[in-house]
Order: sequence, then structure tokens, then C-alpha cells
Amino acid sequence: MNLELSEEQEAVRRLAREFTEREIVPYAAEWDRAESVDRAIVKKLGDLGFLGLTVPEEYGGSGGDHLAYVLVTEELGRGDSAVRGIVSVSLGLVAKTLAAWGTEEQKRAWLPRLCSGEALGCFGLTEPGTGSDAGSLTTRAVREGDAYVISGSKMFITNGTWADVVLLFARTGDEPGHRGISAFLVPADAPGLTRREVHGKLGLRGQATAELALDGVRVPASAMLGPEGKGFSVAMSALAKGRMSVAAGCVGIAQAALDAAVSYAAQREQFGKPIAHHQLVQELIADISVDVDAARLLTWRVADLIDRGRPFATESSTAKLFASEAAVRAASNALQVHGGYGYIDEYPAGKLLRDARVMTLYEGTSQIQKLLIGRARTGVSAF
Ligand code: FAD
Repeated sequence: MNLELSEEQEAVRRLAREFTEREIVPYAAEWDRAESVDRAIVKKLGDLGFLGLTVPEEYGGSGGDHLAYVLVTEELGRGDSAVRGIVSVSLGLVAKTLAAWGTEEQKRAWLPRLCSGEALGCFGLTEPGTGSDAGSLTTRAVREGDAYVISGSKMFITNGTWADVVLLFARTGDEPGHRGISAFLVPADAPGLTRREVHGKLGLRGQATAELALDGVRVPASAMLGPEGKGFSVAMSALAKGRMSVAAGCVGIAQAALDAAVSYAAQREQFGKPIAHHQLVQELIADISVDVDAARLLTWRVADLIDRGRPFATESSTAKLFASEAAVRAASNALQVHGGYGYIDEYPAGKLLRDARVMTLYEGTSQIQKLLIGRARTGVSAF
């Protein structure tokens, strides 16, 4: 892998960095307090092509490789994980999955709107009773003529109240576990679908997270994404790439933690000199710096493997596991560098720590990533 970025990759990173500095950083704390990102950000992300990265241009995407996608995701994550998550879900989990599994008609119907930001997508896998054990989900889709009628509920759905389309997973067969699951593209305004915002999150407070209730939601049979009974494969293929995107967002958090710690250590004085002169403060900063580099390299490796058409799922779990734990450590270390000031929201360290904390939970907890990596190395499934 060549670690030198191409001119195109440098340009897209610069674009994302300038956008983040101008449109996100000045507002992130305010959005966090208000528990809502300004929705106008979606159109701005779409206008720059950030919601269509890696999606073919013929479907309204902006093309580009996965390293470019990772670079943009890191920059957005450096500014505000709540904004980064909008892109990771609508593009990473929904549009990219649709591009990979969709029929021509499905792609034409949804991709141009998703890529432009005119529409947003959300990913409905988790249910109140099934998180890590997603293969046991109970939402059911029953065939009635040339339609399916779907009933059940979904929990913790990012973009849930904002989305125009739900990539929804439901049981269509009687086979136990993941074999009876199919994927559907469900318009969010379908009769019988109601959405309720989940409030009081520790972090990602600006992001719209929702509970979905489906009561006899009718969709045409043509709304099924991928073959019947293959919904779990659709979900796992989405999450394998999604974990790279979460990892990139975590690199952004860790980088923001490093920037904040270095800047504070240079200006805060104790014992007659800037605290950067104290060796134990330097140790905190060095630990953050190592975490940033290691997490970034693991994440770039995944992008490189995908772009070269090589297997990447275990490497993606590895990057997500390491980067998410690293982001929590880095944010906590940055808070320590700030002393008591790190504990109030005038400084960014506290928000970084709150936002980082969910990264070890969603798209597969750290324990689940370890089981996936362990299975790949030993050939033994612990599930
Ligand atoms: P559980 O599965 O109940 O796990 C509880 C604990 O048990 C964890 O520590 C877990 O690691 C451990 N555990 C479980 N099974 C095992 C095992 N076999 N071995 C060892 N330990 C185990 N879901 C979506 O579908 N779409 C979204 O857009 C989405 N966005 C989210 C946004 C937020 C802010 C949050 C908090 C969650 C989101 N989720 C989403 C759900 C998320 O993916 C789940 O919360 C996650 O998969 C964990 O499931 P759970 O919360 O039910 O925890």
C-alpha cells in the first residue's frame, strides 16, 4: 500500500477540512446543547458530493475511491461525530448497500436523491430485544399477493426521524436465525410507520436517533433488496464496510483530542511554565498521538483492501475495535490534559469523550468485534 495520497485524495481531504472548519466546528457545541444538528447541513454535504462518495456517477454519485471516503469521514468526525454519522449511515450503510445489491429500478429510484442530500437513508436492523444477536430479530414481513405487510419495531435508528427511506430487515421465512431474514426499502412516509425520537443520549446528542414502530406497513414485493432470505448477508455486507467508516470517524475524534490537548498544553501555565513542559503531560499527549497514527493506519488498510478488491471484513473489525477504543482513550487523555476545564463544555474534550463512547457499542460492540476476529483466526465460531 502506498501511503502517499494522490493529488485527488489530497484535494478531497482539503475540501472536507475546510468545510468542517467553516460549517461544523463553530456550531458543534451549540448543536450538542440543542440536541439537534442544523438540518441545512444535509444539503451542504450533498452539494459537495460527500453523500455520494464511491457511488457510481451514473446514479448521481461522485465516484471516488474508499480512501477518499475515509479521508472525508475522518475530517467530518473531527468536527462533529453527529454530522459524520449522518453520512456514515445514509451513504455508508444505505446508499452503498443499495448500489451493491439493488435492481436497476431501485438504484434509479433512490440513489440520485440519496447522493444529492435531497433524501436521507437509515438502517433498521436493531430491535428492542435484539442488538448483538441481530439474527434473532422478530419484525415480520408477510407476503400478500404482490406486496409484503410488515409489523414490528426497531430501536436506536440513526437518522430515524429525518430519513426518507429505511433499509429495513424483517423475517420473511420460518427458518430460525439469520436464514429467514430479508431486506426491504421502506419509504419512511409509508402508512403504519411511526417514528419517535430517542432523547437523553450521553453523546451524539445532535444526531436524530429514533425508535420505529411498524404496524401493517404495506410495500410492493419489488421493495425487497437482494434475494429473499438473504437479508442477513445484505446487513453484514453493509456493516463490514460501515465499520471502516466508524473507525475513520474515531480517527477524527482522536485527532481532535490531540489538537485540543496540544493547544491547551501550550497556553496553560502551572508551576511557572506551560504544562507542555511537564513530562507527564507530554506522556498523555504522546499516548494520544500513537493512538491517532495506529488507528489511522488500520483504517486506511481497510480502504486499500476494498479498492483492490481484496477480502477486508476481519481488517474492518480490527480497525473498528482498535479505533473506537483508541478514541475513548484519546478523548479521556485530552480531558486529563485540560484538568478541571476539561470537565465543562466550554472546551471540546468532554464532548469528544461522550461522542466517542458509543463507538465501542454500535455497529457491533467491542466484544462482538473480538468474537469476529477470533473466529477468523481460529476457524471456531463462538456465536
Ligand atoms: P446487547 O446486544 O444487549 O449487549 C449488551 C452487552 O452484552 C454488551 O456489552 C455486549 O458486548 C455484550 N454481549 C452480547 N452478546 C455477547 C456475546 N455473544 N459475547 C460477549 N458479549 C456479548 N442499530 C441499527 O440497526 N441502526 C442504527 O442506525 C443504529 N444506530 C445506533 C445509534 C446509537 C446512538 C446507539 C446507542 C445504537 C445504535 N444502533 C443502531 C444499535 C447498536 O448497533 C446496538 O446498540 C448494538 O449492536 C448493541 O446491541 P444492544 O444495545 O442490544 O446490546
